[in-house]
Amino acid sequence: MTNYELMPSERRRKNDRQSETAIILTLGSLLLFLLTGMGISLFSKVLQAEDHNLMHVDQPPIVFEDGDANIGNNIMREVIVIDAGHGGYDVGCSFDDYNEKDITLQIAKKAGEKMRKRGFQVIYTRESDIALGAYEEEDLALRAQFAYKHQAAAFLSLHLNMRNETETERCYGFEVYENKNDSVSHKVAQNIHSSLNGLEYTTSRGVLDGQTLQIVSMNLRPAVLIEMGFLDDEHDRAYLVSEEGQDDIANALCEAMVQTFPSVSD
Ligand SMILES: [Zn+2]
Repeated sequence: MTNYELMPSERRRKNDRQSETAIILTLGSLLLFLLTGMGISLFSKVLQAEDHNLMHVDQPPIVFEDGDANIGNNIMREVIVIDAGHGGYDVGCSFDDYNEKDITLQIAKKAGEKMRKRGFQVIYTRESDIALGAYEEEDLALRAQFAYKHQAAAFLSLHLNMRNETETERCYGFEVYENKNDSVSHKVAQNIHSSLNGLEYTTSRGVLDGQTLQIVSMNLRPAVLIEMGFLDDEHDRAYLVSEEGQDDIANALCEAMVQTFPSVSD
């Protein structure tokens, strides 16, 4: 039905209704416009809040103001968390009187000292013979959380290996486990692998996928686990327990960090 088919009075009424409709439509779109605007601004506020959270996750390490002569004041230092594997009730692997937990702690402290001298901020998950958690899973989770809490640029977990009972061949050599989903972990692993390889104290068993290792794969910071050698292999053990061998490994770990984060030691 067109306007022309209607009676004049009907036409007028229809015209009136049309202008009413037009007003309602105009007001409606205005309201919709305002609501959409509010919606967008609310949404962008949510995004900003999320951005803020992200910034919080990746926030740079704290600025220190101590007067270390080698470092100078107000320099932002990369945080390296060194995790001496095992501890307390958890001895790790053992051979004769040697326990993995003691050797990892000795090397961790040596490596940490060297890194501090090169300008890194070093934090240890443990500095004595203690466990972090009441049971293994909790212990590993706390170590990984430790890296996040301190916003570690790199988390290095130090371990020693032991031949599997089913293994009949001689087992020796070092292994570096990386988090394949993390480019920094990959870089750290590559650099540690090449600097340990340069020591020629044993063979390399390669850079391996640490996906099955909770402390590497569940870590929110770039994590690497290093099996520095086999405690039950005579040749590896002699090096790993010696002052000289431990010093060399500590140096190699430190050099790898300097290579990965060159700005720190500039
Ligand atoms: Zn271990």
